[in-house]
Amino acid sequence: MTTDSLIRFPVPWPRREAVATGRASRPLPAVWPLAAWLAVVGNLPLWQHVELLTTSSVLRWPLLAGLGLVLVGALAALLSLLAWPRVFRGVATALVLLSAFNSHFMWQYGAVIDPTMFANVVHTDVREVRDLLSARLFATVLLVAGPALWWIWRHPLPRRGWLRQTGRNLLGVSAGIALLLVMGLLCYQDLASLMRNHKDLRYMVNPLNTVYAATRLVTDQLPRQVAALKPVGEDARLGASYRNQARPPLLLLVVGETARAQNFGLDGYERPTTPALARWQAEEGLVNFSQVRSCGTNTLVSVPCIFSPLTRAQGGDRTPQHENLLDVLQRAGLAVLWIDNQAGCKGVCNRVPHAQAGDAPVPGLCDGGECLDPAMLQGLDERLAALDPVRSARGVVLVMHQMGSHGPAYYKRTPSDHKPFQPECASSTLSDCPREQLVNAYDNTIAYTDHFLDLALQWVQQRSVAGVNDSGLIYVSDHGESLSENGLYLHGVPYALAPDQQTHVPMVAWLSPGLQRRSGVSQECLRSQADQPLSHDHFFHSVLGLMDVQTSARLPALDMTHTCGHG
Ligand SMILES: [Zn+2]
Repeated sequence: MTTDSLIRFPVPWPRREAVATGRASRPLPAVWPLAAWLAVVGNLPLWQHVELLTTSSVLRWPLLAGLGLVLVGALAALLSLLAWPRVFRGVATALVLLSAFNSHFMWQYGAVIDPTMFANVVHTDVREVRDLLSARLFATVLLVAGPALWWIWRHPLPRRGWLRQTGRNLLGVSAGIALLLVMGLLCYQDLASLMRNHKDLRYMVNPLNTVYAATRLVTDQLPRQVAALKPVGEDARLGASYRNQARPPLLLLVVGETARAQNFGLDGYERPTTPALARWQAEEGLVNFSQVRSCGTNTLVSVPCIFSPLTRAQGGDRTPQHENLLDVLQRAGLAVLWIDNQAGCKGVCNRVPHAQAGDAPVPGLCDGGECLDPAMLQGLDERLAALDPVRSARGVVLVMHQMGSHGPAYYKRTPSDHKPFQPECASSTLSDCPREQLVNAYDNTIAYTDHFLDLALQWVQQRSVAGVNDSGLIYVSDHGESLSENGLYLHGVPYALAPDQQTHVPMVAWLSPGLQRRSGVSQECLRSQADQPLSHDHFFHSVLGLMDVQTSARLPALDMTHTCGHG
């Protein structure tokens, strides 16, 4: 087939008719009905939300109409900008589909579409997408997008000279902007106060939220990813505790997923979701940190930020421009290994040895391309033996990135013999389940993380008892989760608006007697920080402190082990 035939076939009949009758589809008919459809039907979640917010207002209908016309104007301007014959149908189709998908996720999960949420979607994997597919998604897409798509594909733009087309498009853009400005000014008072008081509304306007987020991603993040990372801790070296050491240290860092403090037994939850950790706390001195804040409300922000030398306020929550903790540990001479049981390490492990749990599927723990978290504990001796022996002899930092409580399919995160809370929600459509079942399914994932951490702690302790390593474990969750509180599900609400459930995360630490001795950091001393306000900001500096890595990049003020009297 030639390119020519690709372009010319099939010729849709409306165009032939339009050409024959001389009533060529002008940009106006093509653009304005579509803008109106997107503003009204493509934004049903927004209208529901605004309607709820304005129940007491006398001026509700004028406000709704005003906002509606502002949207029509903005969308008509955008569509007019794109109204080129070969471009329009494809782009319009994409915008309509985006509106439909966005509507579904807003309805189902109370999600809003901001730049980090969008970046998250870009970085997702097949497994995560599969969990989100549902009959309701298809129904929403069909109802919201179907009629608009039918219309778009039945009304192609005629071909004209580029000068005429430019003129028409500019006319459409101007008319759209004029409508936006006139209506915006007429309703300024009400609209401004609505937007000021409900900042999340700006992320609810389909599909402009996604267009904005995509533009931000391209202009803001891509250039940074291309640019070389700034080196961190170039002066990093191992401290005095490594001289003539009897055993090398081994620290296991567990990066949790979507565990929130509110449902963590050790943090005062009424249900026993962490019985094994409670035992470690009572018998082995495990320290629970009860006031830890996450850096972001989603994985893509939080995981790099946990390992970043920057605090959240310094930009640790943005696309990394600096090397991270693992680079510094490796530069100091230690062996580093990242084992992942999720959609990757978000760039954190790019320059250190890393492996995916599913690479060597463990029977009974891995099924259908997914592994339960304990699979990361299988074959560890072989994995460690494969690391650089010179480095391993100095010390090892091992990272395990959990699947944890990843939603919405919580029930998939736990095997059938580890579901203490019954009955549990067995659907990805969370709003279909009674809240108790949703909480049961989520609590089962926390209880399973408790079980996983128990196994991990046993392994770490065994290394110490056997005299192989001076060992320890630190666990921290990347962000929390909403379980229908305020109509919200999942996570990813913009940080400034995020509820406590999404940013208050569990963190625990256990150190073998040998590691306490060599680092000068006793568990008693750590316990003095247990109820202090801490955050992901402290992680980079505290791990360097605990591992006795000497570098100007470690800031004592952010090292929670600093007060324990070492280096
Ligand atoms: Zn996460």
